[in-house]
Amino acid sequence: MSAQTTTYTATLRDIISLDPATGEEVGRATLCSAEDVAHAIERARAAQKAWSALTFRERARVVLNARELVLSEMDEIARLISRESGKPVAEAVAMEIVPTLDLMRYFARRTTRLLKPEKIDIGLYGLMGRSSRVVYRPLGVIGIISPWNFPWAIPLGEVVMALMAGNAVVLKPSELTPMVGLRIAETFRRAGLPEGLLEVVTGDGTTGAALAAAVVDKIMFTGSVATGRRVAEAAAKTLTPVVLELGGKDPMIVFEDADIEAAASAAVWGAFANSGQACASVERCYVHTRVAPQFTARVVEKTRALRQHAGTHPDSDLGAMSSVGQLRTVEEHLRDAVTRGARVLVGGGRPLDLHGGHFHQPTVLADVDHTMMVMREETFGPVLPVMTFADEAEAISLANDSLFGLTASVWTRDVRRGRRVATRIEAGTVMVNEVLYTHGIAQTPWGGVKQSGIGRTHGRLGLMELVAPYHIHVNHLARFEDVWWFNYTPRATELFRGLARRFATGSAWQTLLLAPQMMKRFIERRSKT
Ligand code: NDP
Repeated sequence: MSAQTTTYTATLRDIISLDPATGEEVGRATLCSAEDVAHAIERARAAQKAWSALTFRERARVVLNARELVLSEMDEIARLISRESGKPVAEAVAMEIVPTLDLMRYFARRTTRLLKPEKIDIGLYGLMGRSSRVVYRPLGVIGIISPWNFPWAIPLGEVVMALMAGNAVVLKPSELTPMVGLRIAETFRRAGLPEGLLEVVTGDGTTGAALAAAVVDKIMFTGSVATGRRVAEAAAKTLTPVVLELGGKDPMIVFEDADIEAAASAAVWGAFANSGQACASVERCYVHTRVAPQFTARVVEKTRALRQHAGTHPDSDLGAMSSVGQLRTVEEHLRDAVTRGARVLVGGGRPLDLHGGHFHQPTVLADVDHTMMVMREETFGPVLPVMTFADEAEAISLANDSLFGLTASVWTRDVRRGRRVATRIEAGTVMVNEVLYTHGIAQTPWGGVKQSGIGRTHGRLGLMELVAPYHIHVNHLARFEDVWWFNYTPRATELFRGLARRFATGSAWQTLLLAPQMMKRFIERRSKT
């Protein structure tokens, strides 16, 4: 279905969205075909021209209207997120709605400044009466393909940034969370967004593949490495640029001087929030041998205290996992770890008292090593493997021993040490004494290195992904023809040698020494014409 009032061509199937905690139907949405995707792109392209001609303030008005609607309908939206994804309502508010309200305010107010034309210092060319500026123009139509784990915050943030930059959007939400995707579109429609600017194409992987293969101006993809690779391959055929926000295997390093109580709480939240289904979840914990017994004991106690219910239950810390497929991945990783010698300290399976949903107990493992899947591959579930290290060098080497590089966290009371270690860890974001949450900061860039992705979202760097920089260069002394123009004489070649030796040093004094040769060249050129 479209965000607007458009009716799609008849489709053979609907996708049915189910509550993973109860199996109840949450809603139905159209399985959009490649043709539907093409029509959505056409509508978006037609609408984008007028939208890009508006001022930032005019675009911001719509975003701020939408923000008001989100604020006033927060509980209803949080409940929908919880029912479709399984996460607790409280977490939907804290981790999806709060950050997006902040992001909407930030980009509505700041995009003018963030995309202000920039004067570039062009060195000696400036002294020659030239100037350069970069102006930022919207790309056109942005295709956003988003996952189910943060079905509101991930696409909404990108939608807001793309719209503020003057683009139109075609959004493909996950088949597990289509109703949240449609709710985003409905919110913007009621906020006064003109028709066509935000098209939502619900569907499954085939719909996503159709969007990746279509001619849009950029694809913002968030999802797994395997699908990201397929999206990049499809986009390469049309030379469509892509931003890939992919998986993680994020390490947490706890040094011997860390605040153990805070670090243990952070490890439990970082590993088990959203049932561990966050790309930035703590997936590997490395703790200094000296504090390992104390730290691990506190982690186990805090994990035991977590309450697991359906996400809509008022006392739920952990809800159901979003799909049975994800649950099985967790079970496979646990089986592999235990077979190879890992010890389950708490949890370890499906809870006996919760039936009919895809629940998995929060699980802490000890005696793990890097031969195990649970330390190498993305588990994306409520599993916290804890391993020890002896010194800083070993901790860094273990943290970097991964194909992924999304986020990492370092725990120490010595912030200088924290910063030093942070600069040696291969991850797009390294937090010192913090964990997981910086996707929620609108101002900071988000993205990974290694197989965790390409490009950035959020912050100024993320906004830059959604515009094209145009360089405008002006010669303010147009009546003096350039010395390097035709025709090439021996005198010209001699001057060019001088330019190589002196002008290219960047020194005005060196260049001044070329003044007599330049004068002769001017006279020579003038006498030829
Ligand atoms: P998937 O890669 O399975 O799916 C992501 C999106 O791509 C979904 O909308 C999916 O549709 C769609 N899709 C599926 N097949 C194709 C295809 N062939 N071409 C184009 N699109 C397709 O990821 P998950 O939804 O399982 O999300 C979990 C993954 O996302 C984890 O690896 C996690 O780490 C990563 N992630 C990364 C984040 C980051 O910021 N780096 C943030 C959040 C998650 P459908 O669901 O309908 O099949």
